[in-house]
Amino acid sequence: MTSVSTLNTESTVAQCIRMIHAGVDYIRLTAPNIREAENLAVIKKKLKEKGYHTPLIADVHFNPVVAETAAAIVDKVRINPGNFISSKAYREKGKDAIREKLIPLLKICKDHGTAIRIGVNHGSLSEIKMEQYGDTPEGMVFSALEYLELCEEQHFDQLVFSMKASNTRVMVYAYRMLVRRMVEQGKAYPIHLGVTEAGEGEDGRIKSSVGIGTLLADGIGDTIRISLTEEPEEEVPVARKLAGYFEAFMTENSSSGIQKYPVPLFDYQKRKTSYVDKTGGNNVPVVVAGFPRTGLKTSDLAEVGYVFNNGKWIRRDQSADYLFLDDQIPEFSLPEGCGGILNYTTWTSVQEKEQFFPLFQAEAYQNTRNKSPKINFILIDPGEVDFLKKFVPDKDPTAVFVLNSQDFSLYDIRKWFSSLIETGSSVPVILKRSYTFEDSEMIRLAAATDLGSFFTDGLGDGIWLAPGDNLSIAETLSISFGILQASRVRATKTEFISCPSCGRTLFNIQEVAAKVRARTGHLKGLRIAVMGCIVNGPGEMADSDYGYVGAGPGKISLYKNHEVVKKNLSAGIAVEELVQLIKVHGDWVEPLHI
Ligand code: SF4
Repeated sequence: MTSVSTLNTESTVAQCIRMIHAGVDYIRLTAPNIREAENLAVIKKKLKEKGYHTPLIADVHFNPVVAETAAAIVDKVRINPGNFISSKAYREKGKDAIREKLIPLLKICKDHGTAIRIGVNHGSLSEIKMEQYGDTPEGMVFSALEYLELCEEQHFDQLVFSMKASNTRVMVYAYRMLVRRMVEQGKAYPIHLGVTEAGEGEDGRIKSSVGIGTLLADGIGDTIRISLTEEPEEEVPVARKLAGYFEAFMTENSSSGIQKYPVPLFDYQKRKTSYVDKTGGNNVPVVVAGFPRTGLKTSDLAEVGYVFNNGKWIRRDQSADYLFLDDQIPEFSLPEGCGGILNYTTWTSVQEKEQFFPLFQAEAYQNTRNKSPKINFILIDPGEVDFLKKFVPDKDPTAVFVLNSQDFSLYDIRKWFSSLIETGSSVPVILKRSYTFEDSEMIRLAAATDLGSFFTDGLGDGIWLAPGDNLSIAETLSISFGILQASRVRATKTEFISCPSCGRTLFNIQEVAAKVRARTGHLKGLRIAVMGCIVNGPGEMADSDYGYVGAGPGKISLYKNHEVVKKNLSAGIAVEELVQLIKVHGDWVEPLHI
């Protein structure tokens, strides 16, 4: 989606060309008013003159007449059921109010061969749907189906649907629910996938991949957008890589072998597992970091979140819960609360076993009585379904599976979990994976998809991303915690919700998001939104704790949840005012300087 004003023809055309060269299939442009909608014709003409014919989509909120204007020009118009008509009109006339505004738009679309995207957003559900359903996936689905019914009533079927949210769980459940309802009704409209306001950098990529990847694995999704607070052309290669990753294994593998995927698909329920040491049960998923090198020193543990200072260990928010030490027994005590995992044979030679635990191959585990009284890790791969049948579930309350999914597809892992659940086992499962991609971004996207989708589905009690030639130990940790945070199962840092910006944006969002991140990035568990405009920003930041929203040129309004608490502040002081606001509400902690 373009991020410059649609009235600025030159900048918009230049941005579109950069996006086309980056590989987009469609370009969406914001059309807040009639003037912008009309200018789409000029932009389209200029692009054609330069030899570019990429389909254009107009993004319209609040004004059906703008949608009508755009529909005569572009290839697709996105409308948002949350604001296509006013709540007042809906209260007075119900569906007739929508019908009245939709019929003229559908007519223009039919005349010009224009498609419509019914783009529901979690953050901008209509007042009435909020009253009826709360801000739930059910409310989103109802909204979409109401428009679908009215379009079909007018014999219009050139429709695409989206159910975006910045909360990956809400987004996944809403899309699944919509598709289920469509299937029940014998309908199969295309689906556009996206996680809104995913942010930037590694977090934005991971969050997008968790949400979009989970759905692509379900076989849902015809187009995707990675929504980053970066230049629009930077979104494109990320989307291409993610789509390409699926294309590769969708052709080689198939989900047809999964007769039943016994996990709740429409709400979050963690698989019930036993408490084993600090793993399983209602514990947050643990993070395992691998240390493949020898000659371990205390200072090496800084890479995995532990700093040795004045004879004491200091633990950071993102420190590994277990360290895989392979066959090296360190000559110092590990930090309290940090367990060392050793290969079984090496573990048998350790005298002081309190801090160290064995990693067994499945066969060795079955054939020995020499086990840790606390926790025993059993390495298993998704092909070993037979072992599950032989392994008497829960006979050993110290057992934890380490599912080494290397070289297995997401479908294989789903099948393995299905078999595990069928046995009734409550043995916790740590998901282990390594990647050999040379492209470090590809590793992030693949890991977030392969592993994040299982945490979203309530499976997985831990994560173990192995380092490799193109992935340092510190990076495995950062990606692991990022995946857990994006899947909403473990918060270890501030969650930033920032819009990608568009023609409505009132400030340099990338610069401001970086400033806000620098000041507040240590506030574990808080959700802070940075939104470009007051028109859509407050609605779309949905479940944020605090919001920084562009209110006018050079002006910022600050929000606590959905309430505006400081209006029209000068942009120069707004970040510090945000910090003050967080302090007043008791959510501030000083950053840890080590
Ligand atoms: S919040 Fe406003 S500025 Fe940001 S992308 Fe949405 S409409 Fe554009």
